[in-house]
Amino acid sequence: MTSKDTDQSPQDLEAMLAQALSSRPGAAAAAPVQGQRCGLIAIVGKPNVGKSTLLNALVGQKISITSRKAQTTRHRITGVRSEGAVQYVFVDTPGFQTRHGNALNRSLNKTVVGAVSDVDLILMVVEAGQFNLADAQVLSLLPASVPAVLLANKLDQVHRRSELAPWLRDMQQRHDFAEFVPMSARNAKDIERLLGICQKYLPEQPWMYGADELTDRSDRFMAAEIVREKLFRLTGDELPYTSTVIIDKYEEEGELRRIAATIVVERDNHKGMVIGEKGEKLKRIGTEARQELESLTGHKVFLEIWVKVRSGWADDDARVRSFGYE
Ligand code: GDP
Ligand code: MG
Repeated sequence: MTSKDTDQSPQDLEAMLAQALSSRPGAAAAAPVQGQRCGLIAIVGKPNVGKSTLLNALVGQKISITSRKAQTTRHRITGVRSEGAVQYVFVDTPGFQTRHGNALNRSLNKTVVGAVSDVDLILMVVEAGQFNLADAQVLSLLPASVPAVLLANKLDQVHRRSELAPWLRDMQQRHDFAEFVPMSARNAKDIERLLGICQKYLPEQPWMYGADELTDRSDRFMAAEIVREKLFRLTGDELPYTSTVIIDKYEEEGELRRIAATIVVERDNHKGMVIGEKGEKLKRIGTEARQELESLTGHKVFLEIWVKVRSGWADDDARVRSFGYE
């Protein structure tokens, strides 16, 4: 980056921007190569700052699922990128995606703050050099407990870059941001750099989703999301979001779709929550998921769901079949 203006504390500017631009993908090199990383990243910001543009660029393709996407109780997955050892799971947080002026006020409640509290990283998007009341409202919802990156987007529109230094200083005072990333969502190199920054904040843990199925808008993806949505809706708030759904099989047989899914939970008692009394909860999850999949795909669906505790291998006794014909 070059500074054309030298009238305004160029040293400050250089230092500030050097710091802001210092994060590199290589910074995460300390992580073991085999160790998978995976985590939730929330993209927040007032309307029109470039969140959708950014998300599309981060995931690497157009995202159209949001309109028909399933809601979990706390997060809605808007895109996933799996690359190398890292899986980035981008989520919407209810209350942050507002199109109406005062919706933020209305949504300023525990649910909103709670939802954004259990992500691993927040990307707070603003337009570089700007910050107004609407930005402040979004900022006020950020929990102190989650690292937040200030993403100063539309850098290409900033002509007097020297003005960014005092602005960055001002932003530093407003919140304890983990990093400052001036960039343009339209610039592929910036997107790569941003991914490198994000990955440092994702915990070392197994991926939540299979490698392929979630990088596109495939039927497998939709199947996983629908089962997941039923899972969280029918088990209530107690089940940790770390519980995941894996599609083991998705076969097309003429007009029939044969789908096998595994719900992976962390603990034995979580397994009980999913299965329910006499397996009736798991049965409902299966039935509702199957019905929705049938209406979505227009095909008969044969859905099998297994429940597994992440650490165990031999306990797939809990299984439900949800037939396409009942
Ligand atoms: P959202 O409302 O936050 O999701 O914002 P959008 O992604 O819809 O973007 C709002 C407008 O800003 C669109 O016209 C985008 O093309 C534009 N935009 C997004 N990122 C950039 C950027 O880095 N530079 C410029 N110049 N425009 C951008
Ligand atoms: Mg948008």
